[in-house]
Amino acid sequence: MKITFENPIVEMTGDEMAQVMWDWIKEYLINEFFEGPILVYDLSIQNRDKTEDQVTIDAAKAVVTYRVGVKCATITPDEERVKEFSLKKLWPSPNGTIRNIINGTVFREPIIISNVPRLIPHWRLPIIVARHAYGDQYKPFEIRSNNLSEIEIKTASTQQKPFDLNEEGIFLAIHNTKKSIEGFARSVFNFSLLRGYDCYFSTKNTILKTYDGFFKEIFEQIFQNEFANKFEAKNLKYEHRLIDDMVAKVLKSEGGFVWALKNYDGDVESDMVAQGFGSLGLMTSVLLSSDGKVVETEAAHGTVTRHYRAWQKGESVSTNPIASIFAWTQALYYRGIFDNKLDLVQGAQKLEKAVRQTVEGGVYTRDLAALIPQSNQPVTTLEFLQAVQRNFRNLD
Ligand code: NAP
Ligand code: MG
Repeated sequence: MKITFENPIVEMTGDEMAQVMWDWIKEYLINEFFEGPILVYDLSIQNRDKTEDQVTIDAAKAVVTYRVGVKCATITPDEERVKEFSLKKLWPSPNGTIRNIINGTVFREPIIISNVPRLIPHWRLPIIVARHAYGDQYKPFEIRSNNLSEIEIKTASTQQKPFDLNEEGIFLAIHNTKKSIEGFARSVFNFSLLRGYDCYFSTKNTILKTYDGFFKEIFEQIFQNEFANKFEAKNLKYEHRLIDDMVAKVLKSEGGFVWALKNYDGDVESDMVAQGFGSLGLMTSVLLSSDGKVVETEAAHGTVTRHYRAWQKGESVSTNPIASIFAWTQALYYRGIFDNKLDLVQGAQKLEKAVRQTVEGGVYTRDLAALIPQSNQPVTTLEFLQAVQRNFRNLD
């Protein structure tokens, strides 16, 4: 008997090896064990070009309507891709388009499997990095100046010379908005509640008293006004920590929390955390809207072009499908949470368990074999998926 759901899941298909694996995951796992309405949007580079990227916008709007979306990795075109696919133009990153329409925050969550060694071995539980994706150094105003004392900052009411330095140098101005920071704070608190994890937000407010102070103040206000009771009911906590203290705490911790970071800090620390947990094939990414009502899940890795080239030549591939499977299990999980369907939540968790058991039973792809000491011979992607299917059945 298949596990059913009634409200749709929006599926966005993608490109290259990621899409080849995607089809197999659907065939061997999703369609095999789950049944319900799935609305498919073809986000392949060819179809985005054909529809002048309208398909990406339509897909994102459908995710907003139905609240749950799952996305395969897609090519973000560069000049070379424009030539390779004779594209009409350099279409924007689908993830950027979708993020703007959903208006949310991206949470990167590692998948932990007991026999896959971590670079930081005591990271027993996930550390979920939430990066603010607006402003700061990513919308900079930069000046290279022969005389820094010539720089003036003028507002409607004031005029100031920030530097009294008669010297050549550089100048940088950055900004953020109250609205964007508030949306970020709400996404982060909603995600902590959904996942049942404590929440930390780190800034350098001791140095940037006004700038980072503003971030800290908004987080505190929104927490106190809208979330404190809900956190208390679930026995969870929120704390602001200085970023340098937090980095030290993270390294010493066993994991098990959401770590919210400003744009640049999040860019840097998400890569540190990803390395600490092992492989790109074991990192998922969840986009949650600020009101906590809309979620889109995907693997954090790309389309794995190098493996696709080998597959095109007829070689067997051993690309790791785990993060893409977890994109599906997370989508099913949130569908279950939103619709109050416990059997769907449990079904999604059972599939995750089957994946872990498969790896723990010594069956894994090449990337994991490279991490595991005295590993077995790696299997192909298809063999791995077949083993997960068998293990899922045996869990009954
Ligand atoms: P990538 O697809 O993540 O692959 C980079 C390398 O990481 C691979 O060559 C492979 O290493 C390893 N890897 C990644 N995922 C793996 C998996 N599931 N199993 C085993 N190994 C894995 O990044 P890329 O090659 O830089 O980008 C390829 C395309 O993906 C680009 O067109 C880019 O625009 C797109 N992209 C899309 C997204 C998205 O849709 N979210 C994200 C990133 C990139 P080895 O070759 O050493 O085996
Ligand atoms: Mg980075």
